[in-house]
Amino acid sequence: MTSTAQLPSPAGLLIDLDGTIYHGGRMIEGADEWIASLIARGVPHLFVTNNSTVNPQTFAARLQAMGIPAEPEQVCTSAQAAASYIALEQPGAAVFVIGEDGLREAVTTAGLRVVESDADVVLQGLDRNLSYESLTRAVRLIHSGARYVLTNPDLLLPVEDGVIPGSGSISALLQAAGGQKPVVIGKPSGILVNYALDRMGTTAEQTWMVGDNLLTDIAAGVGAGCPTALVLTGITNQDNLASYVEQAGVRPDVIFENLHELQTYISERLGR
Ligand SMILES: [Mg+2]
Repeated sequence: MTSTAQLPSPAGLLIDLDGTIYHGGRMIEGADEWIASLIARGVPHLFVTNNSTVNPQTFAARLQAMGIPAEPEQVCTSAQAAASYIALEQPGAAVFVIGEDGLREAVTTAGLRVVESDADVVLQGLDRNLSYESLTRAVRLIHSGARYVLTNPDLLLPVEDGVIPGSGSISALLQAAGGQKPVVIGKPSGILVNYALDRMGTTAEQTWMVGDNLLTDIAAGVGAGCPTALVLTGITNQDNLASYVEQAGVRPDVIFENLHELQTYISERLGR
């Protein structure tokens, strides 16, 4: 463990998924034990993900299949946070969606209308069946005054055999053609983190953000005022740590090699 600060006892935890809890379909060593220990100690926690493509039920089922206790209510997606943001800003708004099922479902669940024309908002996430027609429609809607909201700015996503373009890459095209910068919801933006804090009902000062990525998880946590814990279980390792710290311009409060180390540290902080 490396520490630049003594963290307060956690009133709650916001936990990244990919690279922190699992890699693709494989659980990261110790994740099941760690989450079970949080439940046993009564520490509230939410899984917070930039992935907008599926609903919280699907995430919870994936976690359960790996032996990690999780309920749909414990999952916060960028799709939910985006829909909630739009519903607060423009209740009942008509939304044109570029995205997958999880995003459309979040929009209707928030009481918004999914439309194909005359939209107040263009909401864009990852769409692995993206068509030129829907890009054209989005660009024209943005030109005629629709607000542009982006679920998450990830440019690339790791998959089994390499990388795929993420929703940030689709956004690069829409920004170039539409001439409007989007409101960004997912990490490193604070909107997703603040949405999760609201749902958990804990204060930023007492809620730790835990993740594997300095540019997204730690940057979002620092921006929202949360204590931050970096785990070297995913994208960051001892060799690239310094370069990521420099790129992100933020530093985590504590760094853990693995989830066992993190679990021990949390137990000590809780004093139980
Ligand atoms: Mg991650």
